[in-house]
This record gives sequence, structure tokens and C-alpha cells, in this order.
Amino acid sequence: MSIKGVKAREILDSRGYPTIEVEILTAKGIFRADVPSGTSTGKFEAHELRDNQKKRYDGKGVKKAITAINNISKKLIGMDPKNQKEIDMRLINLDGTIDKSSIGANALLGISIAVCKAGAAESNMPLFEYIKKISGNKKIKMPTPLMLVLEGGSHANNSSDIQEFMIIPKAKNCTEKIRKGTEVYYAVKEMLEEKKFSTNVGYEGAFASPFEKNERVFELLTTAIHKSKFAKKDFSFAIDMAASELYDKKMKRYIFSAEKKSYDENGLINYYNKLQKKFHIMSIEDGFEENDWKSWKDFTKKTGKKLMIVGDDFLATNPARIRKAIQEKSCNALLLKINQIGTINESLEAYALAKKAGWKIIVSHRSGETTDSFIADFAVGIGADYVKFGAPARGERTSKYNELLRIEEFVRNK
Ligand code: PEP
Ligand code: MG
Repeated sequence: MSIKGVKAREILDSRGYPTIEVEILTAKGIFRADVPSGTSTGKFEAHELRDNQKKRYDGKGVKKAITAINNISKKLIGMDPKNQKEIDMRLINLDGTIDKSSIGANALLGISIAVCKAGAAESNMPLFEYIKKISGNKKIKMPTPLMLVLEGGSHANNSSDIQEFMIIPKAKNCTEKIRKGTEVYYAVKEMLEEKKFSTNVGYEGAFASPFEKNERVFELLTTAIHKSKFAKKDFSFAIDMAASELYDKKMKRYIFSAEKKSYDENGLINYYNKLQKKFHIMSIEDGFEENDWKSWKDFTKKTGKKLMIVGDDFLATNPARIRKAIQEKSCNALLLKINQIGTINESLEAYALAKKAGWKIIVSHRSGETTDSFIADFAVGIGADYVKFGAPARGERTSKYNELLRIEEFVRNK
């Protein structure tokens, strides 16, 4: 019933950057966890500890974090992996900083995920059911995927200003939603080839073509849906603006370099309203930069009834920021990224706050991923409304979709 060993190593993520892998040893076996990492990271995320030694991996090595894990491992030996909260609190105390910068949020998360997997095994439960239990969620629910089809911004060069163009399939179950979304992904590829556009992909497996106008992308997606023999009503759209990446602090404007345009806050609100009227957009993530509480609030007041207004960099999966956003009615959906906060227990706290406020919850990957499919089980376990796992392509993305397929089959046959 107790942790017998903790081991960490440096591995590579999907971008080729070093990341952390942790193994927890118990009588039930070895439980392994790999840590994701972002590119368009928010300022309010917990600290990702990197070596900053230029001569190794361009400064991106994680040897310091590995050493930190080895140094605290003795303090975890003998603890019961079923006590997720107690272990996570101990990790936070051992770190001792607000932003987890001494041991590193990446180091803590590796341990925290591995503990969760070990706890599920000790409880003789499938991972998603164990997460349901420790989250206090009452009902298993398969999430709807927000499937990425085209990407740009800081995830792909020579591409569109908007970071992510996603499609939201409607179907009777998650398996069918994944199929429908994937078929549209094929159709988009064919259409890009016909137009002699690039079909190179960005960090998250979606096509990264140099679209000068964002509206052209929605037109292409609408045609691709039609070409795939689906009805327009079978899909809606979601975008991640990653607006902090577009914001020029000196000019106080959002710069759309591909479109050769710039907007102030009101201009951007008008732009979103125009896009939403023209296309079936259901969700806008990070529509404003992470410090602009006023625009978030104004936008939610005006459009929150008809649109999912999703906080990613804005909330940073941070319970304190989520509390403030609930109080100020600044958005109505949480993008939940476990590495933004650094422990499973705090991620569950973020989930519980959002759920209580009646917000929608989207469990999300990072642009730097591994084949660890933990977040798929996490999403089902907490009963998330949506998941954001990237394109239906590349191993580190499909590992999550495939886990959803397995879970749905398991639940169906139970
Ligand atoms: C995002 O912005 O939602 C995202 C997944 O990108 P990153 O991991 O680079 O923050
Ligand atoms: Mg985002």
C-alpha cells in the first residue's frame, strides 16, 4: 500500500525538447508519467524548471528538476499513493514557493500523475473511475472533442494569425464524433492539396497553411464538411486566439500580421461578433490578453449567453484566478491544463470551482506532448464537457483520442 521508490529521467517531448518522466514503484508495479509543456505559455502558469545551460539542449534541459525529484524522493517513500491530496500538499510544502519555482511545477506534476496512476492500481480501479472517485464527480461522461484542423500563431510559422481552428462534431457518442472530425480532417488535406497549399503540420498535428484571411479558413472548413458528406449542422467551430501572443503592449493593440491588420479591444470585440454572425462559432478561447480583465468581462456580459468564452492563459488553471473570474463574471468556461498548476489535487480544485459556477470544462493537452494518455482518463473521470487534444494525427495526439475510444468501449461493455 505504499510508495517504494521514485525515479525520474529526462526524455523528449513531441517538439524534441527535454521533459520529465517519473516512475513510482509500489507492490503493484511501476507507474510512469510524462510531463507536457506549452509554447504559447501564460504568464500566470506555475514555473517550469529548465536548466538554462545553453550548451545542453539549447538551455531546455531538465536535469535540475530531475535532481530536485531525486532529492525529495525519500520524503515520499512509505506514503500511500491513494492519498493524492496529502502527497500533493507535501510536494507543495517541499517546494515552498508560490509559483513552484524551487522544485519546478514540471517536476511536481510528474510525481503527482504517477501517484494518481499508482493510486488507481492500488484501488483496483480503471484510471478514469479512480479519478471520478477522487474528484467527487458523480457521473462518468464521455467528452466532446474540439478537434484541431488548422493551426497557426506561435505553433507554426508562415501560417494564420489565429492559433487554433477547431471543429466540434455532433454525433451519438464520442467514438462517432472522433470519426466525423477525422474525416473532415482528411477532406481539408485534400482541399489544401487541390489549392496547391502546403499540408505541412504545426506542433499539434494540424495543417499550417499561410492563410492571409481567417475568414477563408472557415469557408474552407465549411466546404470540407460538405465534401465529407456531412451536414453543416453536424459541426460547429471553436477558435483559440491565444491573444496574449498577438498583443503589442507598447501599441496597446492586437497585431494580426498575416491579415495585415490591428485592433484595439473594442475593435476585437466587433471582429469576434462579425465572425460569429457569419460562421457557426460556438467557442472563443483567450480572446483577449491575460491581464485585460475589463475586456473579458465586457465580452462575457455581451455574448456569454450564446458563446463559450474560454479562459486558458487568462486563468492558468489557477484556483485564485478562477475564483476572481467567477466573481467578476469574466468568462464562462475553464481550459484545464494540469501542468499550468502542477499537481492533480489543485487541478481537481480548479475543476470543482468551475463546475460549481456552472462553467463548461475543457481538458487540454499542451503543444509539447508525449504519448502519455493520462489527460484522457482525467477528462472522463471529472466528467469534462470537452477535450482539446489537437489534430487526429501524430502519436502524442492520437494516444489521447485512442484512450477515449478504449474507455468508451469499456463503459459500453460494462
Ligand atoms: C493552447 O494555447 O491552448 C495550447 C494548447 O498551446 P500551448 O500548449 O502552446 O500553450
Ligand atoms: Mg490556448
